[in-house]
Amino acid sequence: MPKHHTFLDLAVVNAPYMDRIAAELERVARSGRYVGGADCSRFEQELARVTGTDFAVGTANGLDALRLIFRAYIELGRMAPGDEVIVPANTYIASVLGAADCGLRVVPVEPRVDTMNLDTSLVEQAVTPRTRAVMTVHLYGRACYDSTLAEVARRHNLIVVEDNAQAIGAEVTVGCGESLQRRRTGALGHAAAFSFYPTKNIGALGDAGAVTTSDPELAAAVRALANYGSDRQYHNIYAGYNSRLDPMQAAVLSVKLPHLDSENAMRRTVAGVYDRMIDNPLVTKPLYDDGALSSVWHQYVVRVDDRDGFRRYLADRGVDTAVHYPVPLYRQPCYDGRLWHGTPLPVTDSICRTVVSLPVSRCTSADDAAEIASIINDYKI
Ligand SMILES: *Cc1c(COP(=O)(O)O)cnc(C)c1O
Repeated sequence: MPKHHTFLDLAVVNAPYMDRIAAELERVARSGRYVGGADCSRFEQELARVTGTDFAVGTANGLDALRLIFRAYIELGRMAPGDEVIVPANTYIASVLGAADCGLRVVPVEPRVDTMNLDTSLVEQAVTPRTRAVMTVHLYGRACYDSTLAEVARRHNLIVVEDNAQAIGAEVTVGCGESLQRRRTGALGHAAAFSFYPTKNIGALGDAGAVTTSDPELAAAVRALANYGSDRQYHNIYAGYNSRLDPMQAAVLSVKLPHLDSENAMRRTVAGVYDRMIDNPLVTKPLYDDGALSSVWHQYVVRVDDRDGFRRYLADRGVDTAVHYPVPLYRQPCYDGRLWHGTPLPVTDSICRTVVSLPVSRCTSADDAAEIASIINDYKI
């Protein structure tokens, strides 16, 4: 029997933290404080510090973090319903639901095939007089931000919103010459959304999310909107939502966040083994590193023409895989052909037709990755 390589087992992922998580959950349970409070503020401060922003505001989940950002910009008068937001065509559907829900028009831009992330060289031609913002999604953990994007945003006065659900801890080199510096995703644009969904690189034991920003007005508006639109008790300046970070989840996240870099280093080791060892003309590897950008390898995604055959071949040899994502968001039944009608998105279509995610988590050791790579190298049609 070959060894079974599981794709992801969250109990294994959380096992090293479990004693402390259990103690923290009991502490919060006994505290009598179940909404808001010191556990939430402490996590928010830690997240802002780790990210390199002035503010972090906890939210109920990552989708709400995005929704709250766009709604806050509308409440502050910096965007209006009907305005356009440029978004990557190749992403998880949650990336665009928040903006669309606020009445903004999402305008797709195709990805680069080697990074599968937004092709920043195509952004400028999508700008119109109604464009107010561009959203970058650091898909699969790979930072998607460069001087081209920064320049276009500056020239057209666009707000840059980051969907950082998959890339907490990833870094980008920004600036030039003397002012060269490393900055983390979540601190690259004007506002960023984080998700702590259990499968993310830092995952809660349920739903959780956050917004980071260094804009005090935006932070205050997001915080108020997430709490019924109230800036102080029984005083509602906006018709808001209830989307608060649960203090139980905040306490869990405060146990895990200090280990962000070692968690990401473990993923990088596995990705490095795949990158060095996978060598098969039928399997296209993702770009490993292109200098200025880093990936925290939320997923390690290869492309294979006969995806179903390849996945069956691996499954028969004990290797579990996944697909992120099989159906482009614009082809989802909820849009029923109404989103981006008539816009051909061939790169997005081809990526969604061919992508396969290999195991990359605490469940996969470097030796496991080497074994998976050698199985992949024996794959033929
Ligand atoms: C997970 C995810 C979200 C949504 O986060 P939730 O916490 O599940 O609401 C948004 N965008 C991307 C890219 C994601 O991977």
